[in-house]
Amino acid sequence: SKELLKLEHLSIDYRVKDGYLSAVNDVSCTINKGEIFAIVGESGCGKSTVAHSIMNLLPGGNEEITGKIIFKGKDLRTCSEKQMEAIRGKEIGMIFQNPLDSLNPVYTVGSQVSEAIMLDKVDKREAWNRVVNLFRDVKMPDADERVNSFPHELSGGMRQRVMIAMMLSRNPELLIADEPTTALDVTIEAQILDIMKGLKEKYNTAIMLITHNFGLVAEIADRIGVMYAGEMVESGDVFEIFENPVHPYTRLLMQALPRKTKAEIRLQTIDGSVPRITEKKPGCRFANRCPYALEKCFQEDPPVVNIQGDHFCRCYLAGKDEKK
Ligand code: SF4
Ligand code: MG
Repeated sequence: SKELLKLEHLSIDYRVKDGYLSAVNDVSCTINKGEIFAIVGESGCGKSTVAHSIMNLLPGGNEEITGKIIFKGKDLRTCSEKQMEAIRGKEIGMIFQNPLDSLNPVYTVGSQVSEAIMLDKVDKREAWNRVVNLFRDVKMPDADERVNSFPHELSGGMRQRVMIAMMLSRNPELLIADEPTTALDVTIEAQILDIMKGLKEKYNTAIMLITHNFGLVAEIADRIGVMYAGEMVESGDVFEIFENPVHPYTRLLMQALPRKTKAEIRLQTIDGSVPRITEKKPGCRFANRCPYALEKCFQEDPPVVNIQGDHFCRCYLAGKDEKK
């Protein structure tokens, strides 16, 4: 099967003081082997929550999860913490926005990557040789010397290269990258994206890229899922969606894209804000911002409509011609 990860009707609710917060509602999508699938949406739309739930890394205690997280045919939600520990890093790698949170300040970056390699029962000398090669793979400037640097001696971009090298050292089939370039300037961001594309080509690593940057998605993704207020409102092939966006929210995002440059756009440029969903009210979550909202949009949940192929859209108008 070409399917690597499949989310089926994933919902995540947090119990809070005034009831609960519906952080993720009925998200379904598939990531195929070796592809880059980008989940794009404003901050607070639930995209990081989805990523953390896959790794079973939610804070724990006050969330209720329903649905399935199927990785290579197995529902990760049925795995014990011990089984998850074996999967994290080895089968699914993860990198975050701020590498300093994941690096230990008192050890050199080379020794930290070599520790990761030795988890797979590789001896010290062999591990060290691999570290230098990995640092070259991620195009670390002066790789031979940088292995001996401490995290604080490196720039943000170099630290993110270390994280990618550390992740790569265990050769996972899936990399989850949560806003990996958000803290970096545009030039460095482009370099990191190039490295990620290279990984996909050289190691056939599938990447789930979580981002609020729609322009970046156009550069790198094979397929995308657009999230709004905890729901995936549209998903499919990146060219198909850029050519034929169906959901009114996706269309608004497209209009905000600068035509001449693919430079970063921030989704916050759209008026209004993502609602905080604290009661299970039926109706479309985008209705209060939607220029096409109908009476029933406020009353009943819109259906998920198959546009064509693997292109899906959650909207009453999907598949109809009236808004075109
Ligand atoms: Fe707009 Fe209605 Fe579609 Fe929601 S279901 S996006 S309110 S047209
Ligand atoms: Mg986030």
